[in-house]
Amino acid sequence: MSLIVQKFGGTSVADCDKIVAAARKAIRAQKEGHQVVMVVSAMGKNTDVLVDLAAQINERPPAREMDMLLSTGEQVSVALMAMAIHSLGAKAVSLTGAQIGIRTDSTHTKARIISIETERVKELLAAGNIVIAAGFQGIDENLNITTLGRGGSDTTAVALAAVLDADACEIYTDVDGVYTTDPRLLAEARRVLQISYDEMLELASLGAGVMHSRSVEFAKKFGVPIHVRSSFTDITGTMIVDQPESLTRPVSGAAMTKNEARITIEGVPDVPGISHELFHSIATKAISVDMVVQNIGADGRANISFTVPREELDQTLEAVRNAANILQYASVAHDEQVSKISVVGLGMAEQSGVADKMFRVLADANINIQMITTSEIKISVLVSREDAQRALAAVHSGFQLDVTPSDAPESVAAVPRECERDAAEVVSRLRTMEDLTIDSIVLDDSQSVIALRRIPDHPGIAARVFEAIAAEGILVDMIVQNVGRGDAANLSLTVPKEDCEQALVVAKKIGAELGAEEILCKADAAKLSVSGIGLRSHTGVGIRMFRALSDSGINVELINTSEVMVNVIVEGKQGQAGLAALNKAFADVLVS
Ligand code: ADP
Ligand code: ASP
Ligand code: MG
Repeated sequence: MSLIVQKFGGTSVADCDKIVAAARKAIRAQKEGHQVVMVVSAMGKNTDVLVDLAAQINERPPAREMDMLLSTGEQVSVALMAMAIHSLGAKAVSLTGAQIGIRTDSTHTKARIISIETERVKELLAAGNIVIAAGFQGIDENLNITTLGRGGSDTTAVALAAVLDADACEIYTDVDGVYTTDPRLLAEARRVLQISYDEMLELASLGAGVMHSRSVEFAKKFGVPIHVRSSFTDITGTMIVDQPESLTRPVSGAAMTKNEARITIEGVPDVPGISHELFHSIATKAISVDMVVQNIGADGRANISFTVPREELDQTLEAVRNAANILQYASVAHDEQVSKISVVGLGMAEQSGVADKMFRVLADANINIQMITTSEIKISVLVSREDAQRALAAVHSGFQLDVTPSDAPESVAAVPRECERDAAEVVSRLRTMEDLTIDSIVLDDSQSVIALRRIPDHPGIAARVFEAIAAEGILVDMIVQNVGRGDAANLSLTVPKEDCEQALVVAKKIGAELGAEEILCKADAAKLSVSGIGLRSHTGVGIRMFRALSDSGINVELINTSEVMVNVIVEGKQGQAGLAALNKAFADVLVS
């Protein structure tokens, strides 16, 4: 008998009528012959109401008590849902996270799942019940109630689907699928029928709040196909699966993170260990650092910029100042009026010209870019907040995201049911639920770095540089742009070694036109990449990487991060030693 997990978000259970409508959907699925597990969120904005209540009592409520409070929201809705199902004549049992046996670590308010018991749920299903699980919550080893972070019911749903080997995981919400960008932000957004795990993972963590990003990590790790669809209609929504919507389009979605703050630390000694010290001192405050950019410096000094959520700016500045005597920086600057705009697409990895197109579109809209980071499948730029909405609209239409690609599937791909797994494999999954998984550590010593230092900053710089390089047919791999003193921009890029000389000629010409102070070239560079699942939620990855390199006396010259990968550039001759150091440092989590 097949098993379906159906998750209903807050707006889908916001009042009694909606609860009854959700109950009907579950009963219908049961009547069609499926076993049904429902995962339910707190009603409407109830979680926000509880957060407000806590703030009225205590500005800094203890995290344990916060979880005790927040978990009640879901307890209300599961009970009401069970009552609704009973009133419609079917059998249902509601369960809290603890009653199911969702074991988590003890990181209150952002706990990670360690294991899930399946016995009780299976017995209840076998007895003909619809099982209603409270989303977003678990229990630690001392029986304390924990929660998984805002939006965490998605993660409960996908995790249950994984351990129960469900045939489908349906996420019912207030939109009818995943769109090319948040349809509330842009009317031109287009619903896609299909999107790949990696794209959804990047989009979710770059601001597309439709899915909790950890739920997508789960889905990818355990191969759970997710169907995102509307609670209010019956139309098919979007499948999140292995394959992208189009194999020809370089970009499949865009996202905005509105409230970011940028911190720029100038003139740090360009010696091993500095990035480690910096991010270690920030991580001790449990702040998650987002875009990280480090440029090749002059006179043995480097500039590091990074972004954090705006509300964490003060704490971050405090951490940076606390580390002042180790970091020995010249100055610290910050800007809290910034937003991040990103484009994501699997196709970007194979196609050139995506970056210069993005920069051109923004330049034409007269939008200044403060920072740039890229990864294989995304490009992010930091812009001033007042430009953010225009920037999103410009890239969305620039990449024709409003137009359906010609090779898009006409209907949602039927996902074949995977073959039965043996019991031992299911048990081994349970043991490693949300562990960090590193699937590759790679050395690429085919690249050189070109850096244009201190270019007077104005819209269009990046576009000019990349168009000139692309015109020579040179493929740019990593791109890093940083702001510096007096708003001068520093731009670094990596190109294949054999194209280095030619790229340098172009860079010198454009650099002179743009008024750059200096053009540098490091012909012999090595790129070290660590990729896997859980890099963002396990904030220690970057730190572990920087520490391993600094312990081996290796200096990090450029940094670029994404949801699925952390890349650094080091001196070419240190590539092998760096690779060995990283293999050792990640040996416990590396899956071969
Ligand atoms: P739920 O309460 O059901 O979990 P959420 O509010 O968490 O619902 O997620 C749904 C919302 O996500 C939508 O209303 C939409 O505004 C927002 N959203 C952001 N990005 C996207 C996107 N790319 N596609 C669809 N919805 C998006
Ligand atoms: N109720 C929780 C929240 O609002 C969890 C969820 O809805 O996914 O964040
Ligand atoms: Mg949600």
